[in-house]
Amino acid sequence: MSTVGKMSRLSNKLLREMNVTAVLKERNQTADEVFHDLGLMIDVEGYIYQPGGHWKPVDCDPKWKVALVVPFRDRIDHLAIFLRHMIPILQLQKLEFSIFVVEQNNNMSFNRAMLLNVGFLEALKLTRYDCYVFHDVDHLALNTNNYYGCDSMPRHFISGDDYWDYRLLYDSLFGGVTGLTTSQMRHVNGFSNMYWGWGAEDDDIYKRVLAKGYFRSRPEGSVGYYNTIHHDHSIAAASPELLCLLEYSYERTEDDGLNSITYQEPDIELTPLFTKISVDIRKQAWKEKWTKCDPLPYATQNHQNDGSEQNGNEMV
Ligand code: UDP
Ligand code: MN
Repeated sequence: MSTVGKMSRLSNKLLREMNVTAVLKERNQTADEVFHDLGLMIDVEGYIYQPGGHWKPVDCDPKWKVALVVPFRDRIDHLAIFLRHMIPILQLQKLEFSIFVVEQNNNMSFNRAMLLNVGFLEALKLTRYDCYVFHDVDHLALNTNNYYGCDSMPRHFISGDDYWDYRLLYDSLFGGVTGLTTSQMRHVNGFSNMYWGWGAEDDDIYKRVLAKGYFRSRPEGSVGYYNTIHHDHSIAAASPELLCLLEYSYERTEDDGLNSITYQEPDIELTPLFTKISVDIRKQAWKEKWTKCDPLPYATQNHQNDGSEQNGNEMV
């Protein structure tokens, strides 16, 4: 692991000096090709390791090149457990994968969906991924047969978790851990950017998925069981504002998502086990043609004052 750490530090330094995005554009190369040319790939126990937490098996041609995108803020304890648990499983499954931790670096209410859109777009700027798994940091897969590749249909990887006695709270649940191919993600226009605060953003993308004619795929029985890292769930239900957004989500699907998102250039750091994308996301403009729901309350509160903050580092 010390070699891995050294490689990461070296490449991070190089990238800072040379501005990776500019170099990729100028050389018309992917990050993989640049790392290869710079001699920054190393063989670690049957895997080619690349700084920033990218792994590719040596002895086979992986079926999927997966970007695991983790929404994140203030849950460093969870992240350590998550990485320790999930990386060996992904390696066992012989996937090519990278882990992206997308951190919201401001004090506004948390916007999980918008962070996932940022993760999708920023990962694609580095290299071509064909499968995205959007993964809460507090979910730990229990069955190594729960395969983290994508499917012809958008996938919900969870069939039950310990918190709900290894059942699902409701059958149409599409949160926690979901997988879409790059083209499925584009087809549904990604996630809505309008959900600030807890809940409903996962139900929103599920509506998009169904509206585009997909069915949801899900592992059967115990294959899809997860343990969750327990934390304080201080909010039990999404706010009425969010439920309004959800009810009328069809109004916004075509122009609220990947094709409309704006954000300042994120700070990208390659740590040994993941690529950290730190981003200052802001409220997106409300479009006049969206006639339902009052746009004003969203995202205006500071998350420390609005009572919705959940202290994820507190294990319960
Ligand atoms: N999250 C985070 N910091 C926060 C809130 C959420 O990192 O302050 C991320 C984290 O990945 C978490 C996910 O968003 O697992 C979903 O949020 P949370 O766990 O609070 O939702 P719940 O478990 O109540 O569904
Ligand atoms: Mn949680």
